Amino acid sequence: MSFRVEFDTSQPAILVEDLHRSFGALKAVDGVSFSIEHGRVVGFVGANGAGKTTTMRILATLDHPDGGFAKVGGHDVVNYPDRVRGLLGWMPDSFGTYENMTVLEYLDFYARALGYQGTGREQRVQEVMDFTDLGPLAGRLSNKLSKGQTQRLCLGRALLHDPQVLIMDEPAAGLDPKARVELKNLIRILAEEGKTILISSHILSELAEMCDSLLFIDKGRIVHHGDAESMTRPSARQETLMNVQVAGDRARLTEWALTAPQVRLLDETKKGARLCIESADEAVIAATLRRMILDGLPVTDFHKEERRLEDAFIDMLGRMEQEAGAVLPPATPPPLPPEAAATSGSTRAEPA
Ligand code: ATP
Repeated sequence: MSFRVEFDTSQPAILVEDLHRSFGALKAVDGVSFSIEHGRVVGFVGANGAGKTTTMRILATLDHPDGGFAKVGGHDVVNYPDRVRGLLGWMPDSFGTYENMTVLEYLDFYARALGYQGTGREQRVQEVMDFTDLGPLAGRLSNKLSKGQTQRLCLGRALLHDPQVLIMDEPAAGLDPKARVELKNLIRILAEEGKTILISSHILSELAEMCDSLLFIDKGRIVHHGDAESMTRPSARQETLMNVQVAGDRARLTEWALTAPQVRLLDETKKGARLCIESADEAVIAATLRRMILDGLPVTDFHKEERRLEDAFIDMLGRMEQEAGAVLPPATPPPLPPEAAATSGSTRAEPA
């Protein structure tokens, strides 16, 4: 096939170096760098507007960076877009179909555009329909599918040329739980086949299950790249999360937590609260429980909780903002004393 492209396995599957993209004054991507090895599944995480889609669109050759570079399979996305498209399957967050075109016709149309011919084309379309379970929908109009079915068609289209790398922008958004599980299973199979997958989502727990590592982006900058455990490991933060339940009114527990030393109230639950004990020391945890009992709290459940990825992410952003605030220079430089101003050689324009 004409679109078969050499995949240089000596280079990372995806390499992004100091990538920039602005829209007017807005720096949507502000010096993003990361590298993804072959066969890895990486989750791309960030708040709305953090820069995920912009980065992914550049990787998919749909937009140009203002600075830096991105390579897929060793091929630069700006200089060799055709090679990159041959290696890469792109699943956008929103996806248009054509009126009066069935699922089968739609996939056949794209297979033809990709250069498949004759029985080879029929076979490839059938393989993709089998994989995405679109067979029963072959005769349905492609613009009349449900959200989950549309996502499967979108995935099918992205897989037609059997790409080595898949970029998926929020593929699970708007899917019901069953459709999400089905999509997750398809992604798992693709990962087992050795594809490299970059996938964005807001459902962090789901990403953590599927991905080898997570790439966190905030305000156009990568703020963390590591496995989910590296974010949530409590010992790294020297604190322990406890889920506590009490008999009767939980208000007594929350009041207690607000004044207890080394204890922070995270949030209230139906029958109690989630607390953060500011120590990973077992003796401190035991002492906290003892103090609760001595203070008369009717504790019915006291168990350690895995740190939630969402909490870890929000904490990390909070810490970063604090650190940035701590090192920011004052908004206006303090005025120089008159004698220093006279001798400083300052080039600032003096008022008339
Ligand atoms: P979401 O999770 O909401 O999809 P995202 O992380 O994918 O967000 P981007 O779509 O990359 O974020 O957008 C990053 C920033 O760039 C946003 O502030 C967005 O409004 C802006 N932006 C993106 N594309 C354009 C464009 N074509 N013109 C102007 N601004 C844009």
